[in-house]
Amino acid sequence: MTDTLRDTLARPLGSLRLSVTDRCNLRCRYCMPEDEYVWLPRTAILTFEEIERLVAVFAGQGVRKVRLTGGEPLLRHDLPTLVDMIARNPRVDDLAMTTNGLLLAKQAAALRQAGLERVTVSLDTLRPERMLAFAKSARHGDVLAGIAAARRAGFTSLKLNSVVIRGFNNDELADLIEFARAHDAEVRFIEYMDVGGATRWSRDQVVSQREMLEVLGQRYGVIEPVHAIGDDERAPAERFRLPDGTTFGIIASVTAPFCRTCDRSRVTADGTWFLCLYAGRGVDLREPLRRGADDAELATLIRETWQGRTDRGAEERLGIADRGALYRIDSLRADPHREMHTRGG
Ligand code: SF4
Repeated sequence: MTDTLRDTLARPLGSLRLSVTDRCNLRCRYCMPEDEYVWLPRTAILTFEEIERLVAVFAGQGVRKVRLTGGEPLLRHDLPTLVDMIARNPRVDDLAMTTNGLLLAKQAAALRQAGLERVTVSLDTLRPERMLAFAKSARHGDVLAGIAAARRAGFTSLKLNSVVIRGFNNDELADLIEFARAHDAEVRFIEYMDVGGATRWSRDQVVSQREMLEVLGQRYGVIEPVHAIGDDERAPAERFRLPDGTTFGIIASVTAPFCRTCDRSRVTADGTWFLCLYAGRGVDLREPLRRGADDAELATLIRETWQGRTDRGAEERLGIADRGALYRIDSLRADPHREMHTRGG
């Protein structure tokens, strides 16, 4: 590769989110609120070798950051082997994973040893009874055990993601900050988004960045923004500092979208490439991969697709006056690629 590949808004191809399975062992209301789901066919799921090859082609076009997602990525059998395969690629200089933590305690050490550099654990509540009601799981203790195991395994810059929903956990902001501080982690509050499976989304349940900062300011005093430098300028979270130096982040995807700097795209477990979390359609990379296309053909497809990218889904949603959930359930059933658990949140 010679020059940096850029889309129509001059955004580089920088960060790839790789979903390794569409299955999940939680049923969070903001992602998978239904009783039944249509899953991707098993034969369509990319093998480790196919994923490794795709990563290599993407890396040849400029991708430097790879994040493994799901569904829940730790449900994919033998994930450390895939981590090892990707970590060997010298062009990938940041390999991370987002997990719900349920299976992390058993796998943290092997993942670290295989070359995984960073872990983000979803932790929406510190109250087990809330997790039971909200995510249909009584395994809150396993998540906490996973966080402890990740630290023991040497994951130093541990992040905790909390989707903030009014009436569910908006009274836990300070508790989550305290928990993160005690566990040498950084919490990132995420505004509740109207994407994919969030069929019960409504505007009044969104707690805005502004409101979060007001609440935390009342508790802690003056909160300063932490100015992003270098790569962090493209990170979705804005970071803040409490008077005692504790930092936290807010991902204001609903009220202050950051599409203008977005260098992220997503590959689903069946090899469909989405240029935006809100994109209606993806590009089928599995077909050329399995037909025997060579690297040059795949690279051309990726280059030409990225050069034509115009997506800025969250910004466009800002302009909708009577904004509701993006999809209705029948539309999600018709195409599971529209689900957030399929395209990796
Ligand atoms: S909505 Fe799309 S373009 Fe905007 S930040 Fe999210 S993924 Fe990027």
